[in-house]
Amino acid sequence: MKILVVDDSLLLRNIIKNELSFEGYDIIDEAKDGQEAIEKYDSHKPDLVTMDITMDGMNGLDAAEQILKKDSQAKIIMVSALGEDEIMSKAVKLGVKDFIVKPFTPERLVNAVKKALS
Ligand SMILES: [Mg+2]
Repeated sequence: MKILVVDDSLLLRNIIKNELSFEGYDIIDEAKDGQEAIEKYDSHKPDLVTMDITMDGMNGLDAAEQILKKDSQAKIIMVSALGEDEIMSKAVKLGVKDFIVKPFTPERLVNAVKKALS
């Protein structure tokens, strides 16, 4: 299963990559903002995307909207911070599969990914 990891934080990208690689998922690529996420989604057609919300340039909510507009079957898990409830309800309405709140445990991340891909 190919996964695209989107986050403006290199540290968070590395944490997510390490945890999911350890579980046997193939991290196909990573992106640091929404625009890059859309471009890499188009070129890799990943099975799942983990999408940070607050990023410089295009944010994760707008990127999720663009991706879902082009591919309604896209599987996106939003990675949110505390206090982003309003953005999260918008994301759920757009059709994202799940969301996890930072800081999250490896189990929470892996369970969300497993569930979204099942
Ligand atoms: Mg961020």
